[in-house]
Amino acid sequence: MATDLRLPTSTIVLPDKDRFLNEENPFEAMMSRFDRAAALLDLDPGIYQVLRHPEKQITISVPVMMDNGEVKVFTGHRVLYNTSRGPAKGGIRFDMAVTLDEVTALAAWMTWKCAVVNLPFGGAKGGVVCDPLGMSVGELERLTRRYTAGIISTLGPDSDVPAPDVNTNERVMAWIMDTYSMHVRHTVTAVVTGKPVEMGGSLGRREATGRGVMFVVREALGHLQRPMAGATVAVQGFGNVGSVAARLLGQQGCKIVAISDRTGGYHNPAGLDVDAAIAHVQRHKTLEGFTGGDALTNEALLELDVDVLVPAALENVITSKNAQRIKARIIAEGANGPTSAGADAILEEKGIFVIPDILANAGGVTVSYFEWVQDRGGYFWSEDVVNERLRDIMTRSFHDVLALSRQHRVNMRTAAYMLSISRVATVHKLRGIYA
Ligand code: NAD
Repeated sequence: MATDLRLPTSTIVLPDKDRFLNEENPFEAMMSRFDRAAALLDLDPGIYQVLRHPEKQITISVPVMMDNGEVKVFTGHRVLYNTSRGPAKGGIRFDMAVTLDEVTALAAWMTWKCAVVNLPFGGAKGGVVCDPLGMSVGELERLTRRYTAGIISTLGPDSDVPAPDVNTNERVMAWIMDTYSMHVRHTVTAVVTGKPVEMGGSLGRREATGRGVMFVVREALGHLQRPMAGATVAVQGFGNVGSVAARLLGQQGCKIVAISDRTGGYHNPAGLDVDAAIAHVQRHKTLEGFTGGDALTNEALLELDVDVLVPAALENVITSKNAQRIKARIIAEGANGPTSAGADAILEEKGIFVIPDILANAGGVTVSYFEWVQDRGGYFWSEDVVNERLRDIMTRSFHDVLALSRQHRVNMRTAAYMLSISRVATVHKLRGIYA
């Protein structure tokens, strides 16, 4: 990227802000960061316009025969936000809260996330408005297959590659892969990622996001010249991302002093036994009743005086309301959107080093990329190879973002957006506008 990238902000077309209006809307948070980064870049207004609009939005009706013999019609969406850098990549969620606006914003988010770690993918997202917890396995399978058939023209290893998201999992990915393969008359494993390992999934995928968090925390501590050994860590959320990050950071010598889930948190200044906590969750489903530390609330966990805070549960847990009280030296955003845009300036003023979500939790999509590569090559890597390649990508990406943040004297979040937007914009400039 060239050094002098500034245009007067007046030449940047202002975004349509009809949607996403308040601080705690995670999509507004993302779009306001996009605008800040775009204003700092040499984006001509035409490319800004292109990047502000989704490439393709598909909305379909999904009729499903329910177990009681009634036909119910669900609404499904798939949005390809930008495919200039490669096939669209992004999850499919089944949830009552799915809307086309939300799916579009999440698809944009995927575009920046893939670009920041330099994967040859664009961004997409999909969803079906439904309550999967109230549906039988048979109903879910029929819903998944009909939704897949409805969006089949966009799907494909070279065009659009879904993955699991809220309320979808390996089993759903297996149904999508099978439906697509039946349509094209041969088995195509690379059409989705997050599949079971037995049918083309990648080793290391389950742990990839938490492992990626560990790698970027390691680099951040090194950058701030703080030793990993004995660094204190608090982790909010003890699911896939939080528990793996806690375990791997512990293995690197960090002291995990607090963990939490939806039932509450546990604090032990001497260090918690993370393996015992994981075993507790395996037995009881939640951390409730864990005896390895003193109880504390999720709010109090965020305000602990620790070296590293890993929010790995929900969006908008750090806002302008509590940012002033955050004492961590480093925040590694395992969750998507845990910090509101209003909190950014406060954290920056306090000198807190934030590793933004699009970088910190990109380990998951990176190993999804490895899965796609392995499926296409028909040659599968050992878990060690997967983990080493993940380490290389996360470490390199951290330093790419850090270098840009120093060059432009901006925080890591703005730098991450600048890097990804400039990567997407560069490809648009090179390709030109097809007429
Ligand atoms: P998960 O469902 O496995 O775990 C979520 C955890 O958060 C659980 O421990 C749950 O109890 C806890 N939680 C829920 N509500 C809470 C609350 N109010 N207070 C405190 N804790 C609460 O989910 P996950 O896969 O670990 O994802 C966590 C976050 O990371 C989400 O924002 C997700 O979008 C993001 N993320 C996940 C991946 C991935 O590969 N799994 C990749 C990128 C980003």
